[in-house]
Amino acid sequence: MIEQNKTEYRFIERHGCPICEGNLANFGLRGSGRQRLIGRSADQYVTIARCTSCGLVFPNPMPIPESIDSHYDLPTEDYFIRSKESGWDQVAHHILDLASLRKDSALRILDVGSGLGNMALAFHRQGHRVTGLEPSSSFFRAASRHDGPEILQSTLQQAEFSDSFDLIVFLAVFEHLTDPIGDFNKAVDLLREGGRICILNVPNAKYAKTRLANFALRCLLRPYVINCSPLHPPFHLWEFQRESLTALGKRFNLEVVHLSVDTSLTFGNPFLYQAYQKLIETTETGEVLRVVFAK
Ligand SMILES: [Zn+2]
Repeated sequence: MIEQNKTEYRFIERHGCPICEGNLANFGLRGSGRQRLIGRSADQYVTIARCTSCGLVFPNPMPIPESIDSHYDLPTEDYFIRSKESGWDQVAHHILDLASLRKDSALRILDVGSGLGNMALAFHRQGHRVTGLEPSSSFFRAASRHDGPEILQSTLQQAEFSDSFDLIVFLAVFEHLTDPIGDFNKAVDLLREGGRICILNVPNAKYAKTRLANFALRCLLRPYVINCSPLHPPFHLWEFQRESLTALGKRFNLEVVHLSVDTSLTFGNPFLYQAYQKLIETTETGEVLRVVFAK
């Protein structure tokens, strides 16, 4: 059965790439649900565009929900999120390594889109001063249960701070933002000179599985693609390529200190992970991208 999406949307039409101002090409239609190879599978469709210069992929016009909660105020266990409470200490260490920041001094850290608050808690336990932002009501309640990190129910653009940050992290968040350039601009303003912005685990537009499915749909003369999920969970609005993230850094005069295509797994069997990682780094076909910018 197809679930009816009851959310009201307004639509924003873009005439060029919001990152590099490149031209847009029509990439295909994306439905409000699982895309099937045969038969009509959704009750609503939007057009997906692709920047011909930097490869950014997004719905155009973009459906913007009436409120953030109409997409994200749901039982936290129903959402696709890393919900395990263990392993976050390693994740926090790994992020500081990627960002080449010292671990022995207390850092001022902003965690944009805290989700369940596990990463903010891990940074706090390592002695850093952390603020987490979480606009969704249900996730804000979940994140606020932790003692230690400050969690605010706010978007980045609404939040106000009197100090600046050493590290700003978007972990599995940037692809959900309706105005990522506006949010990124705010993050750059809040970052101290020499600070780092990490955008981690954003979907890769060149992911092998997506390309295979798109190829199969094209072979069947179907007008659809499976990039992004603007009308159904997990509500991904953007897919990136290495070139999109390089262009983002260039636009804001930031240095790219790390840029990789990865599996979405941070830790696994180290031998298998390294072999697979090498393959997808060479072919750029992994599921996610990770970038660290320095101001
Ligand atoms: Zn572009």
